Amino acid sequence: MKHADLLKSVLAAALLALLIWGGVPLYRHRHYPVQVVRGPGVTNVVRLSEFTPGLRGTPADTSVFVLEGKEPGGKALLLGETHANEPEGLLAALIIIENAVVEKGTLYVIPFFNRSASRNTRPGDGYPLYFDVPTAWGAVRFRMGNRDASPLDQWPDPDVYVHYPDKQLLSFADARNVNRAWPGRPLGTLMERLTYGAMELIRREKVDVAVDAHGAETMYPVTNCIVAPDKSLRIATLAALTVKATEGFEDHVETSPRGFRGLSHREIGDFSDALPFLLEAPIPFLDQPTGPKTVKLLLDGRDPFLLSLARKKKLFVPYDESGWPLERRVGQHCSVILEILRQFSKKNMGRAIVVQSVPRYAELVKNGVGRYFADPSKADPKSIVRE
Ligand SMILES: [Zn+2]
Repeated sequence: MKHADLLKSVLAAALLALLIWGGVPLYRHRHYPVQVVRGPGVTNVVRLSEFTPGLRGTPADTSVFVLEGKEPGGKALLLGETHANEPEGLLAALIIIENAVVEKGTLYVIPFFNRSASRNTRPGDGYPLYFDVPTAWGAVRFRMGNRDASPLDQWPDPDVYVHYPDKQLLSFADARNVNRAWPGRPLGTLMERLTYGAMELIRREKVDVAVDAHGAETMYPVTNCIVAPDKSLRIATLAALTVKATEGFEDHVETSPRGFRGLSHREIGDFSDALPFLLEAPIPFLDQPTGPKTVKLLLDGRDPFLLSLARKKKLFVPYDESGWPLERRVGQHCSVILEILRQFSKKNMGRAIVVQSVPRYAELVKNGVGRYFADPSKADPKSIVRE
């Protein structure tokens, strides 16, 4: 073999080795199953594609956990992981699935709403691929996803993203952001099919209340809040005032802008009879001026750069050495969801949704998030859903 050929072969082998070294962890992350143990209140688990055939067999099809109460009443839908790099929504949804007992009405919970995004990552920001939540019996491992669906599942991105049906021009960067794809259409892009499936569930099952749980940067004004359109404002305000008075945490109300299309809190309300709410808990991990994006920062929300910015009054939330830990963010979501359901039920007795056994803010802050997850190795194998 000539010297040049040998050199080419060595370089090709080195490139292949580099591709395998970099690709295998991403492949494993994409195929890592999170185990969810069906709690005492779960009466059925269906696929979202049952509401729209356009999702069938696609990577966006996802599990819907149904918790039907002992008595009839109203219906609520809860979404986690609209953005799969904001785990507080996912964890609140899973705590409800594993612990809630529904006395009246029905809950539909979709913990991995943008399932494709939960199998994506953000290498440019050095995101961890997983995070572990400690429990008394070991750690529960979750995939850390990204804001957008994986380009392996929806591609190519357009130069300009044209919203359906409003035709509003949005950034190309939002074509794979499912929270710009509402209300969707049956045979549109994967993200439009996904929101259409949820809209069909809302319309066919006559859902009264829809809650989309997120996290947002501490330097972004729409954080630590409930976003609600006019039709949901009264309940949002009562929920915010009640948690402040009885549980001692702030969660202000933001009005959903009428002219900004594609958002769950706008389109669910405009295209169905449901009352939509979007919850934002502050997640320091998402802020740009932080140290490395470590699992520790994701869990405890402590960062020295944010602390110095807080002293210069650059953040939109109070921030000190205690950071903004995961249990506080998840506890805030659990309490606000319960309070929205309670306020809705007070005014709509015939459509009441009564949920028991879900921990509230103070319990989560005291006990941690892991306390509310069952050990899959000790659970009946038939009760485990892998998602
Ligand atoms: Zn979000």
